[in-house]
Amino acid sequence: MMDIKSLTLAELQAEMEKIGEKKFRAGQIYSWLHEKLAEDFDEMSNLSKNLRERLRAEYELVSLELLEVQTSKQDGTSKFLFRLFDGNVIESVLMRYHYGNSVCVSSQAGCRMGCRFCASTLGGLSRNLRASEILDQVYQIQKWSKERVHSVVVMGSGEPLDNYDALLRFIELLTAEGGLHISQRNVTVSTCGIVPMMYRLADEELQITLALSLHAPSQEKRLQLMPIAKRYELPEVLDACRYYFEKTGRRVTFEYSLVGGVNDAPEDARALASLLGDMNCHINLIPVNPVAERGLAGPERGIVLNFKEILEKSGKHVTIRREMGRDIDGACGQLRRRYLEK
Ligand code: SAH
Repeated sequence: MMDIKSLTLAELQAEMEKIGEKKFRAGQIYSWLHEKLAEDFDEMSNLSKNLRERLRAEYELVSLELLEVQTSKQDGTSKFLFRLFDGNVIESVLMRYHYGNSVCVSSQAGCRMGCRFCASTLGGLSRNLRASEILDQVYQIQKWSKERVHSVVVMGSGEPLDNYDALLRFIELLTAEGGLHISQRNVTVSTCGIVPMMYRLADEELQITLALSLHAPSQEKRLQLMPIAKRYELPEVLDACRYYFEKTGRRVTFEYSLVGGVNDAPEDARALASLLGDMNCHINLIPVNPVAERGLAGPERGIVLNFKEILEKSGKHVTIRREMGRDIDGACGQLRRRYLEK
């Protein structure tokens, strides 16, 4: 059966014509699914009982099941554990900022990229998420919080560019009129650097922000932390970032997770500054969330501040990621990991 929540309005219109229904029904159904966030055909009160039964027979309408919510006492960040229809489990995060609520979604159940400091990858990739399953993380959280979601970051478990078609469909549904209609500018996609897919994304000419997980100032060091660097080397990845900026005019964000004693030395900061040269970009430093299984930990505060200062002196725009939700297994894949272990 076709997954009705993954269909665009145009596709839904074509479907209605196919089953001999009036085209305008598609708009009504779309609004129930993506604006009113209905979870059952029976909620669609402006459709006849007949049509609702027809829809139930022809299409699949599935929602995520909320298993667990943990809310940080430190900063109000909430972490959600959801069960998918097939029993897989994923996690999402709600962060509250002064400008609005931001939701961090997973794009895959598990991940196959193998980054050394990341908990999402410890059990490998279970499967890709459908567009509707990425979307429903936002919908469920908006309903739970009873507050509008302002922005979405695809920075949860999984590598979004390893699930490209579902990712693009998700972005279209999330930002389209007639749904939540979130501005493309408020959507960020983070990648470990799958070069051909970065070019493809640039060519879509969307207004979303691309974030690259850089994490090291040299190919050699990057390879120690990220196996993907073997396939796509640093100079190629940076070329793809430059291309993204040229094509879209959107400044790229570089994420740099600081791992104590590995990539946090003053020389690393200087090498990073010269690597990025005069590129128009933004650097986001993330003191690594300790992952016990990996035996890695973040540097002390003073080292982080010093790292930032070196970059700033060379004219870079730098922020330190607020370490939200540390008390609630905040880092990628940690809550899911705890759950699977039980
Ligand atoms: N696969 C994508 C998106 C998911 S990870 C990517 O690699 O970008 C989102 C970000 O969190 C990435 O920059 C990732 O490297 C980082 N990350 C993963 N585990 C972390 C940890 N334990 N501490 C800090 N950052 C982590």
